[in-house]
Amino acid sequence: MSKITVLDEHTINQIAAGEVIERPAAVVKELVENSIDAGSNAITVEIKEGGMSLIRITDNGSGIDEEDMPYVFLRHSTSKIRTAEDLLKVSSLGFRGEALSSIAAVSQVELVTKTSGTFTGIRYQIAGGDEKSLEHIGCPDGTTFIVRNLFYNTPARRKFLKSPVTEAGYISDLMERLAVSHPGIAFKFINNGQIKLHTSGNNNLKDIIYNVYGRDVTSHLLEITGKSGQTEMVGYIAKPIVSRGNRNYENYFINGRYIKSPLISKAIEEAYRPYIMLHRYPFTSVHIRIDTQLIDVNVHPAKLEIRFKNGEELYQLIYHTLKNALEGRELIPAVTLTK
Ligand code: ADP
Ligand code: MG
Repeated sequence: MSKITVLDEHTINQIAAGEVIERPAAVVKELVENSIDAGSNAITVEIKEGGMSLIRITDNGSGIDEEDMPYVFLRHSTSKIRTAEDLLKVSSLGFRGEALSSIAAVSQVELVTKTSGTFTGIRYQIAGGDEKSLEHIGCPDGTTFIVRNLFYNTPARRKFLKSPVTEAGYISDLMERLAVSHPGIAFKFINNGQIKLHTSGNNNLKDIIYNVYGRDVTSHLLEITGKSGQTEMVGYIAKPIVSRGNRNYENYFINGRYIKSPLISKAIEEAYRPYIMLHRYPFTSVHIRIDTQLIDVNVHPAKLEIRFKNGEELYQLIYHTLKNALEGRELIPAVTLTK
C-alpha cells in the first residue's frame, strides 16, 4: 500500500496559513496590501480585541467582479501575475495568490464588494475554507473584508498569540508604516472604537511623519534625495539626537513596500556611525524607487525580504546620500548645564 497521499485543499491552505498568517497583524498587512494594489486612496482598518475577534478593512478601490468571485479564495489565484516571467518584474505588493485562501482557512470571512461598472454589489461569506454563500446587496464601490474569530479552528495557533493589547500594538506599528509608505492614501485605524491614526492622503510625507511620530521627531528632520542610474531615493532622516535603542524607527521602503534588509540597514548605520552611539539606531524614512527588474521580491512568503541585483550600487547610493545630508550639520545639541 502506498504511504504517500496528496493533501486535500483545506489541509494545504492551513499549512500555507501557518507561513503567511502568523498573527492578526499579518491579516491586516495582507488585506491592506490588497487594497493598495486595488488602487484605493482611502483605507480604513478597524480591529477589536487585538484583531482576534474582528478585523474590518474597507477600501474605495477597484472592487472585485462577480466572475472572479469563485477564484478569490482559491490558493494560487491572483490577478497580478500570469506567468513565471512576470515574477521578474512584479510591481504590485501581492503576487503569490495565497493570502485570501490562507485567511479564509483559519477564520470566518465576509467580503462585500462592488465595481464601479455594476449596479449592485456582492456579499460573500466563507468560514474555515468552506460554507460559502453569495448574495447581491446595495453597497458603495470598493471592497470590505471582515475577518472574525481568527484561528477559531486552530487552537494551537491561537494559543501562541500574545495579549490583545500586544497584538493591537503590532497592528498599530504596521499601520504607521503603511501610512508612511503611501502618503497619497488616507488611512484610518480604529482600535476598539477609538481612532488611533488618521492621515490625510495629501501626499506630503513630512505631514505624515508629524502625524505618526510627533513633533519631537519632525523638528529634527533632514530631507534627503539621491539618484544612481535609474534608482532614486527620497525621504527624511532625523538628526542623531533622535536615536533609539532598537531599529523600530529605522524604516525604508522599496517601491512602496516595507522590507527588512541587512544591506540597507548597514548602509544607513555606517552613514550615522560617526554621530551615534553604539547600539543606538536612527530615525529614517527612506523611500527608494528601483526598476522592478533589478529586484526579486519572491524570496519569502511574508514578502519582507528582497534580493537586489545591484546591491553594491544601492549600498553606495544610500550610504553617500545619508552621509552628505549629515555632514557639516550642527548635529551635537548644545548642552546647557544647570546646577
Ligand atoms: P494576491 O494579492 O497575491 O494576488 P490574494 O489572495 O491576496 O492574492 O488576493 C487574491 C485576488 O483577490 C487578488 O489578486 C485580487 O484580484 C483580488 N482582491 C483581493 N483583495 C482585493 C481588494 N481589496 N480589492 C480588489 N481586489 C481584491
Ligand atoms: Mg494579496
